[in-house]
Formats: sequence, C-alpha cells, structure tokens
Amino acid sequence: MSSASLHQALQEQFGFDQFKGNQEPIIKCLLAGKDTFVIKPTGGGKSLCYQLPAIISEGVAIIISPLIALMKNQVDLVRSYSSKDDVAHFLNSTLTKKEIREVHDDLLSGRTKMLYVAPETLTKQENLEFFSDLKLSFFAVDEAHCISEWGHDFRPEYRRLREMMTQINPDIPVIALTATATPKVQSDIIKNLGLKEPEIFISSFNRPNLYYEIQPKIKKDQTIKSIVRFIVQMKGKSGIIYTLNRKTTEELADMLMANGIKAVAYHAGLDSKLRAERQDLFLNEDVQVIVATIAFGMGIDKPDIRFVIHFNIPKSIENYYQETGRAGRDGLEGKCILYYSHKDVSKLEHLMRDKPLSEREVGAQLISETVAYSESGVCRRKILMSYFGEEYTEKNCGQCDNCLHPKEQVEAKDNVVKV
Ligand code: ADP
Ligand code: MG
Repeated sequence: MSSASLHQALQEQFGFDQFKGNQEPIIKCLLAGKDTFVIKPTGGGKSLCYQLPAIISEGVAIIISPLIALMKNQVDLVRSYSSKDDVAHFLNSTLTKKEIREVHDDLLSGRTKMLYVAPETLTKQENLEFFSDLKLSFFAVDEAHCISEWGHDFRPEYRRLREMMTQINPDIPVIALTATATPKVQSDIIKNLGLKEPEIFISSFNRPNLYYEIQPKIKKDQTIKSIVRFIVQMKGKSGIIYTLNRKTTEELADMLMANGIKAVAYHAGLDSKLRAERQDLFLNEDVQVIVATIAFGMGIDKPDIRFVIHFNIPKSIENYYQETGRAGRDGLEGKCILYYSHKDVSKLEHLMRDKPLSEREVGAQLISETVAYSESGVCRRKILMSYFGEEYTEKNCGQCDNCLHPKEQVEAKDNVVKV
C-alpha cells in the first residue's frame, strides 16, 4: 500500500495527520505479510501499529491482550475513533452468553475488524474452532513480554499462544509488541511466539524529560515528611506513589490526606468497582495522588502525570523503568524519585521465599541489578539505557541526581532504617 493511502487512512480513521515515530514502516511490514516485532517505549503509539492495518485489511485481526480492563478501554477507544460500534469487540469471561452470540454474529458478518481476546479465551476448544473458520488478517500479541519470566509481568498462558495460533491459522502474520527491551526478553518473545524471520523495530528507550533521583530512605516518618514536602511543592500536579504492599498504600494515603493532600489508595485487594472508582478519581484529577501497588498503571493513558515516587525499591530495573515511564507521557516534566533502603531489599527477598528455586534465582538477580542501580554514582539514564542494550554517550544528562550533584554512593544503612 502506498504512503499516500496509508496517510489517508490514518487521517480518516484516527484523525491524525502524521505517523508517530516508525509507525509507518511497521505497518507496511505487517501489511506485506511479514512477522513483525515492535519494541517501543510506553506511549510510543504501539496500538495504532495493528489497529490501522486491521481496519484496512480483509478479515478480522485477533489481538491478544493480557488484561480484561485494558481490553475494554482499547475497544472503547477504537469505537470512538471509528464511530462504528461493531468495528471492534472483545471476548473474555466478563461477557454473557447473549453478548458472546452478538459478537459471534458481528464476526461472521465481516463487519468486525478487530477482536481483542485474553489468552485464556484462546485456550477454549470451541473458540479455537470458531476462529479457525473465520477470515483472519493477522494476530497481534500486545504486551508480548508477558511470555517471558525475565519480563516484568510473566503470564504462563502466554506460553501457549504459539500452539493456539498454529491451530487457528498458521499462515497469517504475527505482530508482537512490547515496551520491554531487555535482550533476554526479546529473544524469549521471538522463540516462544515462534516468530518467523521477524522484522524487528526497536525505538530508543531514552525519556529525556524524565528526571531520576534516588533518596536514601531514613526513618519512615521522615520519609513521609519529605514526600509531603515534595508533593506540596508540586502544587496540585498529579502523581503516583508506588509501594510494595497493600497496607502501606492505605497508610500512606491516610497520611497524605492528614497533610491536606488529596490521595486515594489502590491495590488488587479492593473490589473491582472500588478500583475503577479510584482510578477515575485520579484520572479526572479529583485527587492529586494515587498511592498504589504495581496493580495500578498498565495501560493507563494519563499524559500529564508529573511525578512517580517509589516508596519501596521496585522488583527490577525493568519494573522501575515501566513504572517511572508513566510520568511525563506528554513530553513535559516528569520527576521520578526512589526511596531506597537495604531493609526494603530484604523485604523483597523475603516475599520470594515460597517461590520455586528457579523463580527465586531470577528474582534475586533482578533485585541485585536494582540495588546496583540505586547505589551507583553513574548517570542514571546511562545505566537504564545500557540495561536496555542502548548506549548513552552524553557525559552529563543534566536530568538525574548523579549528573546534577555528583556525589558518593547512596548507602542507606540498615540500622537507621525503621520501617
Ligand atoms: P503504547 O501502547 O505504545 O504505550 P498507545 O498505543 O497507547 O501507546 O498510544 C499512546 C498515545 O499516542 C495514544 O494517546 C494515541 O492516541 C497516541 N498516538 C498514537 N499514534 C499517534 C499518531 N500517529 N499521532 C498522534 N497521536 C498518536
Ligand atoms: Mg499499549
């Protein structure tokens, strides 16, 4: 397809004048029938790389996406662009029998161009048979890092995708997309998804507008005071605070409220209605801060989050990058502050104690990399990018604590940490 007609489709279907980054060559590759592997940071516009081809191709694209909540969001977005409700559907465990029948009817009629499914949906034999009889355009595997134990969100069901795609239709191309760029995860994805001589598109992972800082975590009340001071100084700008456990989200949110900062807690222990309500409070800026476990954030598209604070050390550099990456999506200010203590490292290690040995080994390795990052005196950006296999050659990024205030290693001593 010519560039002119792709641009026309972009304008007509999505209302955008230009492709973002390398969307156009990616789309052309997929439309040429090749397996395509897209590695692009969060906010880079990965969805459009399969949505546009899906709309202009014959048949239905099957899009595999890990989170049910995310799926509905995406489908609503696509429908709002196209103003045709039957252009996209999802199939997952939340639908009634009647709704499923309606989706099937739309699929058979050829009106539907995109079908979002959870990997579980594909494991059901009746679905496999139904999909095998459909005219399909391609498979898109979103959040493809879920296939790898080295990624930040391993989902065992993803391991069965190749087998199921082969059963449904082995002859259509596959596009895999992720914001996870570590070489280990990449090769896991290619291998486990069985991508055939894929064309690989990797974008830079540098986020020049993000400022990175590590603070030693001293006594809990001092840390909270320091956080309160910081948030007050951010004057009403939105931010996320990540904590390791559910209880701390509630405690911290209460503390912030007591200090006149509007905050809510968010974690997987809350029922889905309450989670949705609190997420909306944050997205609509009825509260300034959401204090959350890592249950919050995947797929959240709020462009003006101005800070991400880690109250505890994250599980891996990858997690840290993803979580901080939710700040400053609009390209403007984004402050990322991590409070670091050895005690939190021990807590993390303790959480893994019941896991199988291989998982503990992977976990320990990931934690030790995060520790090295936290204690390093080297430019934070340089470390993050080298983690993703990129070289950052500037001497001074001007946007991290180590570049702005060269100093000795941050060492938070165990004996002063009381959490
Ligand atoms: P990712 O999945 O890579 O994190 P998304 O697909 O959610 O990113 O896209 C991020 C944002 O970029 C969305 O708000 C989307 O509408 C916007 N976007 C995508 N492509 C374009 C484009 N060509 N022009 C303008 N905005 C775009
Ligand atoms: Mg995405």
